[in-house]
Amino acid sequence: MSIKLITHPDYSFDFPSRHRFPMEKFKLLHQYLQQNGLATDENTLRPGRAKLELLQLAHCPEYLDRFIHNKQTPQEIRRMGLPWSPGLVKRTLISPNGTFLAGHLALQEGIACHLAGGTHHAHRDAASGFCVLNDLAVAALGLLHESRRTTLPNPSILIFDCDVHQGDGTARILEHEPRVFTCSVHCDKNFPARKARSDMDVEVPRGTQDDEYLHTVKNAFLKAIDRSKPTLVFYDAGVDVYAEDPLGLINISLDGLRARENLVLNLCREKGLPVATVIGGGYDDDRAALVRRHAMVIEEAFRVFEG
Ligand SMILES: [Zn+2]
Repeated sequence: MSIKLITHPDYSFDFPSRHRFPMEKFKLLHQYLQQNGLATDENTLRPGRAKLELLQLAHCPEYLDRFIHNKQTPQEIRRMGLPWSPGLVKRTLISPNGTFLAGHLALQEGIACHLAGGTHHAHRDAASGFCVLNDLAVAALGLLHESRRTTLPNPSILIFDCDVHQGDGTARILEHEPRVFTCSVHCDKNFPARKARSDMDVEVPRGTQDDEYLHTVKNAFLKAIDRSKPTLVFYDAGVDVYAEDPLGLINISLDGLRARENLVLNLCREKGLPVATVIGGGYDDDRAALVRRHAMVIEEAFRVFEG
């Protein structure tokens, strides 16, 4: 049985190509994985639009209404960092369901990979930094909600966020939820200027290189597992830690990035922890190069779990 991959053709909609946010990367990532044989018709799933009741576990109804019906103020749109369009609404309402589905599949099969997600700056009542809805918080709260009547005895979810930016929205939304442990490993000098308090924050200094970074990630992950005793891990594999990413400030090489994905997934496998991966942030005008970086977490998932 092959690792399940989750994506949707509407993730990449018609979007200004010169915009800083590389909206076409979701489609290109799927195509790349089809070309190298990892994504097939059999192992690729297409999530539907998330129910409002699911989204409301993490977001306030007034904010959802303002976003969906284009009633945000100009300041709110600026903070979102993306131009509003019906296409944006459509993709935004599907993606949290993709991460939710990945969580479900990880619980059943040990691993699943969402070819999107990681919109960790989205707050309960506001978009921020290209993130409109917080898929990680929605998925975690959705699984907890279901666990009241189904599969998860004493659920404990670890959100391990290795995007170069702090998962501030995730931390704030889940601040008072003891069954979800948020751990963010991020660059201290980077966005957001005003940091939130995750259950565990690990700051990586500007300019950090592979060896020190990998050591930090390993220690952070082991400590987070020890503290949270998770029954499920969501792994945000943001690739903006890469040295040449325009929005990252730390110096991780391509080999270092691949080593990180291998390290995290290997630890999950060794410890028998179900893991759902999301791709997180990553920026580059060279879209093909960017997609090769985002593909690493999926390639390493296959190497670790099927190799
Ligand atoms: Zn980021």
